[in-house]
Amino acid sequence: MKAIIIGGGIGGLSAAIALKRCGITTEVYEAVKEIKPVGAAISIWPNGVKCLNWLGMKEQLQQLGGPMEFMAYKEFVHGQTLTRFSLDPLIKSVGERPYPVARAELQDMLIDTYGRGDIQFGKRVARIEEFDGGVRAYFEDGHVAVGDVLIAADGTHSVIRPYVLGHQTERRYAGYVNWNGLVEIDESIAPANQWTTFVGEGKRVSLMPVAGNRFYFFFDVPLDKGLPEDRTTVKTDLTRYFAGWAAPVQKLISAINPDTTNRIEIHDIEPFMQLVRGRVALLGDSGHSTTPDIGQGGCAAMEDAVVLAVALQTNSLGVEDALLRYQEKRAYRVKDLVLKARKRCDVTHGKDMNITHSWYEELKSETGERVLSGMRETILGGPLE
Ligand code: FAD
Repeated sequence: MKAIIIGGGIGGLSAAIALKRCGITTEVYEAVKEIKPVGAAISIWPNGVKCLNWLGMKEQLQQLGGPMEFMAYKEFVHGQTLTRFSLDPLIKSVGERPYPVARAELQDMLIDTYGRGDIQFGKRVARIEEFDGGVRAYFEDGHVAVGDVLIAADGTHSVIRPYVLGHQTERRYAGYVNWNGLVEIDESIAPANQWTTFVGEGKRVSLMPVAGNRFYFFFDVPLDKGLPEDRTTVKTDLTRYFAGWAAPVQKLISAINPDTTNRIEIHDIEPFMQLVRGRVALLGDSGHSTTPDIGQGGCAAMEDAVVLAVALQTNSLGVEDALLRYQEKRAYRVKDLVLKARKRCDVTHGKDMNITHSWYEELKSETGERVLSGMRETILGGPLE
């Protein structure tokens, strides 16, 4: 069996490694000549980590991951701790730890595991068609690829999604802007072994450790879409939006490098239940585009990859049947993740400030139990126990 994989992001490469591992021949086509990840880092939660372990990257991932042992929320004016707790009970109950990692390093690990020379860069698919017994992909440069199955891991702006769904989908603006980047660890901003989040005014400032003595930081601010802001205005924008916030936040703003700080207007797509059509499967953001509020978009793509590879490997009724089984296993799971993230997004970002204020109050009495039990439920919904 030969699989054509469109897209060399987290989803496409995880799928390529998974299929290869299951003895399926793969061809990976990536539109750009050089992948430049849109964000600085990503938290891989234990459900995603287990998938990467299963794909043979356990040791490498451990080298990339930051030592995130605790989680804390702080109020925004004085930086007083609202709650702080260990992640250990979560790790013990789900059987794996989370790893925040720099995206470029994650991408390199996936590329090297699959085989850098085996990825066809600079190949943008224009359209696809199925024929009796196979599928063809037509590329903008005239190349044509033929396979038994096609995996569309071409991201949130997928050109293959309309073929699968039979209609176009709209991206929905989630109502906030996220700035993110990497900065050297400074313990006067936050402890080096903790996921620290300052919350207030429907905004947040968060820091997570990644390997190499760096914090992954992000700032979220509820804002209109399309404002004339970019890297040249990062420091003045953040200084304005976070005026009056605690000293560590001001210190972080002074420490960041605007040239490597990303500004992203956050979107998702209304979940849909159809992930496959014939011999074509959507995987990763093409099939479920989520806000990053529970840090599960990339993890879900890794889960998709494992489930899809097993479905293709173990099925003897043919590719189309295997894809339907993949859809059956994934559609509810990914819908649930998108909707959970959307709910979290609204509470965090002050869609209704009364609800957001109640959440700030709840954090004062949080022992870790409620937060960790929500995370546990999300994590244990993954395919690998
Ligand atoms: P992409 O990464 O978008 O990759 C798609 C690839 O397909 C790209 O390389 C693109 O060039 C290529 N492509 C596109 N069109 C074509 C074409 N026509 N032909 C060929 N190739 C094509 N997830 C987590 O798990 N944890 C987190 O902490 C987390 N944090 C996030 C923070 C932010 C601010 C954002 C925006 C997202 C976050 N996510 C997180 C989500 C995660 O980044 C995505 O879910 C993940 O990158 C999706 O991977 P993908 O491979 O499906 O898509």
